[in-house]
Amino acid sequence: MPQVTIDKNRCKGCEHCVSACPQNVLEMSDDINVKGYFYSYTANPQRCIGCTMCAIMCPDMAIEIKVHGTQYKYFNY
Ligand code: SF4
Ligand code: SF4
Repeated sequence: MPQVTIDKNRCKGCEHCVSACPQNVLEMSDDINVKGYFYSYTANPQRCIGCTMCAIMCPDMAIEIKVHGTQYKYFNY
């Protein structure tokens, strides 16, 4: 099963990943991170198909995905 990891303290709460996910895996937390933003989290991880759309959309490189042993992290600079 694909594994999605969100670094909550990199998140700025833009919700792009939530909108991009075709499987409704992600939701916004009621809690805030160290920067004072509501962050996204994997509310329904079992639904993930590993499409990586959420990671592609994230402007803050907060999302990392592992699919069948391959790790995807975009724009890692
Ligand atoms: S990899 Fe695809 S299905 Fe999985 S959480 Fe991201 S956008 Fe949703
Ligand atoms: S796209 Fe990135 S910064 Fe925006 S809510 Fe999702 S994880 Fe946070």
